[in-house]
Amino acid sequence: MALIEITGLGRSFTAGDQEVTVLDGVDLSIEAGEMVAIIGQSGSGKSTLMNILGCLDRPSRGSYRFDGQDVAAMSDLELAELRRDHFGFIFQRYQLMPDLDAVGNVEIPAIYRGDPRRARRQRARKLLTRLGLGDRLGNRPGALSGGQQQRVSVARALINGGEVILADEPTGALDTQSSAELMALLRELHAEGHTVIIVTHDPTIAASADRVVEISDGAITKDTRKGPAPEPRRISKTPPTGTGIGASLDRFREATRMALWSMAAHKLRSFLTMLGIIIGITSVVSMVALGNGSQQKVLENITNIGTSTIDIRPGTGFGDRRPNRVQTLVGSDADALEGQPFAASVSPEVSTTANVIHGATTASAQLKGVSSGYFQLGAYSLIEGATFTQADVETRAQVAVLDEDAADTFFANENPIGQRVLIGRIPLQVIGVVKSSGTSFGPQSIRIFTPWSTAMVRITGGETVDSISVQVPDDYDMEQAEQEITRILTRRHGTVDFFLTNTDTIRETIQSTSKTLTYLISAIAVISLVVGGIGVMNIMLVSVTERTREIGIRKAVGARRSDITEQFLIEAVLVCLVGGALGVALAFGFGALMGVISPDTRLVYSVGTIGAAFASAMMIGVVFGYLPARSAARLDPVVALTRE
Ligand code: ADP
Ligand code: MG
Repeated sequence: MALIEITGLGRSFTAGDQEVTVLDGVDLSIEAGEMVAIIGQSGSGKSTLMNILGCLDRPSRGSYRFDGQDVAAMSDLELAELRRDHFGFIFQRYQLMPDLDAVGNVEIPAIYRGDPRRARRQRARKLLTRLGLGDRLGNRPGALSGGQQQRVSVARALINGGEVILADEPTGALDTQSSAELMALLRELHAEGHTVIIVTHDPTIAASADRVVEISDGAITKDTRKGPAPEPRRISKTPPTGTGIGASLDRFREATRMALWSMAAHKLRSFLTMLGIIIGITSVVSMVALGNGSQQKVLENITNIGTSTIDIRPGTGFGDRRPNRVQTLVGSDADALEGQPFAASVSPEVSTTANVIHGATTASAQLKGVSSGYFQLGAYSLIEGATFTQADVETRAQVAVLDEDAADTFFANENPIGQRVLIGRIPLQVIGVVKSSGTSFGPQSIRIFTPWSTAMVRITGGETVDSISVQVPDDYDMEQAEQEITRILTRRHGTVDFFLTNTDTIRETIQSTSKTLTYLISAIAVISLVVGGIGVMNIMLVSVTERTREIGIRKAVGARRSDITEQFLIEAVLVCLVGGALGVALAFGFGALMGVISPDTRLVYSVGTIGAAFASAMMIGVVFGYLPARSAARLDPVVALTRE
């Protein structure tokens, strides 16, 4: 049986609602090692026949047996392997990849066969050198003449053995000299044992073949042979040199390399694809860093205050707007708690607005009666003099500590320490000046601090206090202390008209608030990532359309569906990963910028977030790259090749 056996073959296309029959009742058998020219006028169906011979297209009717196997029964994968291992295509317009150099173009079929890089590149160089392109190995097609490009495509057809060489109008775009050279080359290959099938409309080209098959209107009209039918002879196939895991790994590496090539060759497209991912990742990483940073900062401030303080306030909670009307927290409540085992110290706090006079200056100030420990809490730092002591509290000493604003108001040009201010008719001696250590928002009244006992007994004369702070000894359980306080005060008041806070509850509140914020920010970030992913998918889909010809070439030289899917998926994932890396870099840049603009802001980058950002970038690549990859892989090779 002949190598190629075609009987009753037909091919029809549906154009609109019409069926066009291009080939009908074609019988043809070609022996291994023959050199055949198929000649006919333009439109007679030569290319259609050639595409069927090369398994780029399937017949509508009739049978095609290659080497005894029925091609119609073969799966897509088997056809791809048949093309890859037995056929070598030469096209009229060369069909080379513009971004790859000569060696890169020639080695493609061998990549899909899984040959190791070194071996196949060496073979590619040898073939190119043999075809007279030894000094053009690194040139891209754009830097080669037509004849040279066609020789590159001959080398590509030969790299996997090229048992059957199919050339569709190979000289169609070449000048006379290059045409003659190419035909000599094809004859030489025929002499070496390759089966050569040439399609042409030019009788002089056809004349160099041993056998000429004429085709007209989709049917064979004449089949002439110079001399007797040759003995079938097959060349020994170049066996694949790589198999198994190593070969798949190599193919994966090759696909990655190709993806990088194509990204580098289309920088703007790649960048636009990445943009969504970059924005998404930047916002996730910096927002989470910002959230973590501010949370950490607030928590540190609380830690400075210390954990062993319980504050008692009137009302039912911070949201209660009645505390001024709930007049139940009184100085004697503090006395009742004093001396209890859970109370290392008890200090009420009162606050009132008072007219303060010094010399000719009168100003309204906020007068705060506090304990001696108040200034150790970290909200204020001493800048001059001293703060008052426990002894001052016990003796209701008439001393005052001013805040900076108060000091400026009353003692613009003199040292305030040792001076006197009058609250109503009560004189207080200034012993110190403090400065608020936090940042304050909006205008604030000037402040004067005095021992709480002095404020209650000598100034307000009132009974109610704004709050009572209880310092719990370090070895006393906070919860138990809270229970004791609640028990004692409930017995005194007859009802629970007060509430307790300690720094732990504040810490918890802040942590849960910032957790909510983190979720919110993460949700926003996830949305922008999804939007970015859809962007990736869109551009990948467009790029599939734009790259149909590339896909067609790859399929013609033996790429399987899985090879194409792999390539496009790797591209999508790489785009997303590079986008992710740029996003992380940008987030750090944002952090550096924030450090300059607002040094108080703290950003805490977490390895977890960055890891998650990369993982999601990769996921997006896989998820949104899958559809374009699949539609690329499913493209019909003929359709892809002929689409412009
Ligand atoms: P040749 O290569 O001999 O010039 P082709 O084989 O390319 O001719 O085409 C033969 C005829 O089949 C032409 O009339 C062409 O319009 C038609 N044809 C080829 N491919 C298709 C297709 N995919 N759909 C419809 N008509 C087609
Ligand atoms: Mg044609």
